[in-house]
Amino acid sequence: MDCLFCKIAAGEIPSTKVYEDELIFAFRDIAPQAPVHTLVIPKRHIACADEIDDTNSALIARIFEKIPQIAKSEGVTNGYRIISNCGADAAQSVPHLHFHILGGKPMTETMC
Ligand code: AMP
Repeated sequence: MDCLFCKIAAGEIPSTKVYEDELIFAFRDIAPQAPVHTLVIPKRHIACADEIDDTNSALIARIFEKIPQIAKSEGVTNGYRIISNCGADAAQSVPHLHFHILGGKPMTETMC
C-alpha cells in the first residue's frame, strides 16, 4: 500500500522517532504547529477514526494508554491537546489514522 505513514512506521521514510513498540509509532510532525507537535499512529493501516470498530478498538485504547508517556517524554508539563482529523471536511491530509499531540504553549478555546 502506498501510504506515507505506513512507510514511516516501517522505517522506509525517515522521521524523528519519539516512541515505538510492536503496535504503535510516534514521531515529530514535519511542520509543527506548536512547540510540541507529535504524531502517534498505529503501525497497522487504519484510514481514519471512521474505521474504528470492535476489531481494532483495543489498539486505539493502547494508543491512548501510551499518549501520557509520549507527551511527558516530549517535555509537556502543563497540558496538551489531542486531535485526530478524519476526512475531507476535517482537512485530513494523510489517510492513515493519527493523533496529533500539541503542547508546550497555552492554546485558545477555539478548536475549528
Ligand atoms: P492531518 O492534516 O491531520 O492529516 O495531519 C497530517 C500531518 O502529517 C500534518 O501535520 C503534516 O505536517 C504531517 N506530515 C506530513 N508528512 C510528514 C512527514 N514526512 N513526517 C512528519 N510529519 C508529516
